[in-house]
Amino acid sequence: MHFFKTEKKRFGTTETAARNNGDRIISKPSPITRRLTITALYLSVWTLLSGSVTSFTIREYTFNKKNYVSLYDIATKTGINQTFDVISQRGKLYHKHHSAVFQAGYAAYLIDGRVYLSDYPVIRKNGEIFIPSLFFREMCSAFFPEFEIRLANNHYSLKTKTITEDPVPFLTPDSPPKEKIAFIFIDPGHGGRDPGAIGGKIREKDLTLKLSRKIRDYLKKNLKGVQILMTRDKDHFIELGKRTEMANRKLKKGTNGLFVSVHVNASISSRSNGHETYYLSQNPTNEESRATASLENNVVVLESKKHKPYQDVEYVEALMLTTQIQKESALLADNIQGRMKKNLRETRSRGVKKADFFVLRGALMPAVLVEAGYITNSKERKLLTQKDFQDRVAKSVGDGVIDFIKEYNK
Ligand SMILES: [Zn+2]
Repeated sequence: MHFFKTEKKRFGTTETAARNNGDRIISKPSPITRRLTITALYLSVWTLLSGSVTSFTIREYTFNKKNYVSLYDIATKTGINQTFDVISQRGKLYHKHHSAVFQAGYAAYLIDGRVYLSDYPVIRKNGEIFIPSLFFREMCSAFFPEFEIRLANNHYSLKTKTITEDPVPFLTPDSPPKEKIAFIFIDPGHGGRDPGAIGGKIREKDLTLKLSRKIRDYLKKNLKGVQILMTRDKDHFIELGKRTEMANRKLKKGTNGLFVSVHVNASISSRSNGHETYYLSQNPTNEESRATASLENNVVVLESKKHKPYQDVEYVEALMLTTQIQKESALLADNIQGRMKKNLRETRSRGVKKADFFVLRGALMPAVLVEAGYITNSKERKLLTQKDFQDRVAKSVGDGVIDFIKEYNK
């Protein structure tokens, strides 16, 4: 086969091509963009296809009426490279400068740093990994933009795009259907062998559990139709990475979640005071933010030594921060901090900040970390143990979440 002819490259519907020849063509699926912008794409790019053209045929499997493609087939037949880590159950597929990251048991996956969701997760079966067909098609659209993915007789293949019309300005549909916020995970910081910060005789892990339960109860009462969950509802130890994993596992197509980690702060200076809300960034707001993050990250020394997930390059890559999630996290932090500022007037608002918290790193949804006050400041420690103040912290966080959802759903 020679591909030395010039092809018009156009994104959009493939209906014309489908009508012209009998094959069923899978149209390029629209990514879950979580974006409100309507992007006008005017694509009249002339691409010269030459020499090394990928082409393959690969089987589609069906288990329990769900369609999959085998990772083994992808590795052996498509020219797409892959790695899979048996400990983390996380895999990566890459081709040229494109990459896709997934994890067994998850319906959420990343393609070129953007979150996509399937209706059902990646599975392990008979010692093999199977990825949802939708994931495979979306990945092929990203990896091989100059091809169409076709499904015929239970086999996928790539064909060069054959578009005869003149290129036309093409509008992406009004923002793709927005995922609904279907669940909220409240994460009481620390627990079990990790007491968190200690001030006087008060332990952070007890305060965070108490506050989190109140936030849960407040949201259950005031936010109907959304599932409110906790990463722990008793005093036990959970590794940082596991916390967002619990939340990510709940993601599937058409839904989104929120992750709120609840903490109280500590400082070597007993004068440090106030409440603040963080979102994840590799660039901390200031030295104090960096110190707070490293204090909260300290718990990794208590975690299992089987693997070092936080230092692992693959891991960090797998959890690449996507700009959209970061923007939404900042908005969630704004809403929560705004309510705390209004309702916790006897303490100071330190504002919204960013820092590299390991507990937020893995989240594939808007995620924030609330520091409700300083356990090392005697005035705030006393407030944090009082029912009235705790109730107002819970109401503030709860109302901030509700404010965010209203804005998000607009
Ligand atoms: Zn903490």
